[in-house]
Amino acid sequence: MKTAIYPGTFDPVTYGHIDIIERACTLFDRVIVAIAQNPAKKPLFSVDERKEMILAATRNLKNVEVDAFEGLLVEYARLRKAQAIIRGLRAVSDFEYELQMALMNRNLNEDVVTVFLMPHEKYVYLNSSIVKEVASYGGDVSQLVPDFVLRKLREKFAGNANAGVKRL
Ligand code: ADP
Repeated sequence: MKTAIYPGTFDPVTYGHIDIIERACTLFDRVIVAIAQNPAKKPLFSVDERKEMILAATRNLKNVEVDAFEGLLVEYARLRKAQAIIRGLRAVSDFEYELQMALMNRNLNEDVVTVFLMPHEKYVYLNSSIVKEVASYGGDVSQLVPDFVLRKLREKFAGNANAGVKRL
């Protein structure tokens, strides 16, 4: 049984994340999407809300599990008996940070292998931050996140004073 952990903030999950999850599912028997609890990042959505959105987005994938954790990723991987960590690689800008983390994680636990997967090129410039920013101004992000997430974003930003444009 080969298990991979796909860690991240997922605030909220986007089609880019889902693309990576689908690819990981073809390689591993079990993929655990693990929400990393990092209050320093001041997430827009609670862990429960993020979990709910990932569950809705992966309902059709039988070998996906959604979980949350805090602490060292390699220790979490050990706890879950995972052999691999999945990370998505978008543009070159991701590379340096991802390489540093992968090498550090290997120093900490040699038994866990980091696997990088590339999304479809249409998602290469997509991240959760840009989705939140556009949605906060009332912009259309329907091509970037599933309907369920779209509704959650609308709820969060309903009545947001930023929506619309005005000259100052
Ligand atoms: P972000 O980088 O959007 O703030 P996360 O911390 O949730 O998101 O990212 C978790 C993992 O998913 C990281 O490995 C990140 O590179 C990857 N990822 C995020 N967005 C995409 C995307 N559009 N395509 C491929 N991988 C992505």
